[in-house]
Amino acid sequence: MTKRSDQSGERDGRAGSSVDTEALRAKYREEREKRLRADAADQYVEIAGIHAHFERDPWVEGELSRAPVTDDVDVVLIGGGFGGLITGARLRQSGVQSLRIVEKGGDFGGTWYWNRYPGVACDVESFCYLPMMEEVGTKPTSKYPPGPEIFEHCRALARKFDLYRGALFRTEVNDLRWDESVSRWIVRTDRGDTLRARFVCMAVGFLEKPKLPGIPGIELFEGKAFHTSRWDYGYTGGDANGNLTGLRDKRVGVIGTGATAVQCVPHLGASAQQLFVFQRTPAGVGVRNNGPVDPEWAERLAPGWQKRRIENFQTLTCGGYEEEDLVADGWTDVPKRVHDAIVAATVATGQASLPPEEIAAIAERIDHEAMEEVRARIARVVRDPATAEALKPYYNQFCKRPCFHDEYLPTFNRPNVKLVDTKGRGVERITKKGVVVDGVEIELDCLVYATGFEVATEYVRRAGYETTGRGGLTISEKWRDGYRTFHGLHLHDFPNCFMMSLAQSGYTLNFPYMIDVQAQHIAYVIGEAMARGARTVEASEAAEDAWCAALAERAAHFDRTFAEQCTPSYYNNEGRPDVKSLDRNFFFGGPTEFAELLAAWRAEGTLQGLVLER
Ligand code: NDP
Repeated sequence: MTKRSDQSGERDGRAGSSVDTEALRAKYREEREKRLRADAADQYVEIAGIHAHFERDPWVEGELSRAPVTDDVDVVLIGGGFGGLITGARLRQSGVQSLRIVEKGGDFGGTWYWNRYPGVACDVESFCYLPMMEEVGTKPTSKYPPGPEIFEHCRALARKFDLYRGALFRTEVNDLRWDESVSRWIVRTDRGDTLRARFVCMAVGFLEKPKLPGIPGIELFEGKAFHTSRWDYGYTGGDANGNLTGLRDKRVGVIGTGATAVQCVPHLGASAQQLFVFQRTPAGVGVRNNGPVDPEWAERLAPGWQKRRIENFQTLTCGGYEEEDLVADGWTDVPKRVHDAIVAATVATGQASLPPEEIAAIAERIDHEAMEEVRARIARVVRDPATAEALKPYYNQFCKRPCFHDEYLPTFNRPNVKLVDTKGRGVERITKKGVVVDGVEIELDCLVYATGFEVATEYVRRAGYETTGRGGLTISEKWRDGYRTFHGLHLHDFPNCFMMSLAQSGYTLNFPYMIDVQAQHIAYVIGEAMARGARTVEASEAAEDAWCAALAERAAHFDRTFAEQCTPSYYNNEGRPDVKSLDRNFFFGGPTEFAELLAAWRAEGTLQGLVLER
């Protein structure tokens, strides 16, 4: 949507400053309106009861038969994804030997254990994303890591820090309870295990529990159906690299066009006899430009390079500035452009700094330009004009998780691939034979749900177990009116217990970075508690109050209109941002700022806010 022709944008791939802000705002509003639903986040269906089979683990064979374990250990980590792995590694580095990790899956890896769909990969650069690369010695093959390589890195991390010792796989915690009489957590599992732990750390992950769309008739479909995080290669053939030979004679449908669908659709398109992509909201898909790593360049990296690289990426993607952009990709490009435009405007006006409303206007203009480029690319790549138009996203770049891919759009030029645009309404119905859109039934052999994961549901529902602290207080009761923590990690009335989550904690698009910030902090506190001979370490009520108040104060300065004006997604509670709980949900500061705050707290040395009892 440009005032003039966007020929200049076509030449250099940039739309220039010709965007019509008012027209785009109106279009974004109109598109948002189409997608608002009264049931917001409640539209989704929990994978339980008649849908429970959607969560079955496809990566293990046979039944697990082992005797129940009874043990007494220093630390139990719940979850074997990056949270459990990195915390385990940091604890090992600080000398903790007695620990166990309890994990639902058949191996370490978390997200990367479950998600093995064709094309699975991460679009945060390998050298920033893979945690503790220097320690493990992993050598990525490409700029962006494919899923199997990340999964292998997780296993290598576990081997390096001896985390397989004592790990309990295919095991789900079903009760976690503080026993005051012995000052131990009692961890019970679905395998009959009873672990007594001095400390527990809950690392159950984010985007972990798959969800189904609220479409009537899901249970009626008689063809093959599965969620992308539980891919059925027994049916499709092939592997994470594609080559899905089992689909050669199949009519396949995929519901969803988020980051997961963007990666698997090209493989489905290449293999299926016929592919129908059911779209509710188009994804914003930028250029990916993946390529092989130059091994000589990697060899020359000086020790300490990863911390420096990650911090550079964090700073540039979270509102800060660095002269050098080490990663230089789609994530750092827009923030850098915003910075450069602000500097140029400041110089041009001769002011020391620009007023906040001018900065906001510049940021909006650059965002509009970036999304115009995304739309212009669609028009260039997708040959059928109606399909191209339907694929164009009309919302601000960060209303939804930006995607980066070079094969997704060309897939719609294949004669066997059809985009079924539901114009914001979603699929109408599922029948025993297929999917109904606009009253028309499309018959399918196979239906793939690329419909994402639970985000805003109750913590206990996502974790799968209740936690009971001092005096019988449960986490559900404690958080009935919203999150309460100290530093996002400690909970008053839950001694010796650490929570790893996004709640009241720093946020970053490079998840392993924030997990490591938390892991190092947890390892420090456990180390100090042990060194000081403490029986328990627990956040005081006053510290929790102060942290919640500090977050509310930060939230008051945060511009909520962005979330309120965005098209629905899990970023804004499906179009209904819960303004009250926003005060309590996030740290509202950059991840580096959060890391520095914790580092300063550790340097101060008195464990302020924590109560230690001998
Ligand atoms: P998302 O939640 O992002 O996407 C779910 C999709 O399902 C959306 O397109 C949604 O449409 C659609 N949908 C839901 N209900 C219906 C319905 N009733 N009818 C039609 N469509 C429907 O899940 P993903 O698994 O794609 O991604 C989750 C997250 O995982 C990402 O945000 C990202 O953080 C991470 N990820 C990262 C990757 C990477 O690094 N490249 C790759 C994959 C995932 P609508 O948009 O309208 O809600």
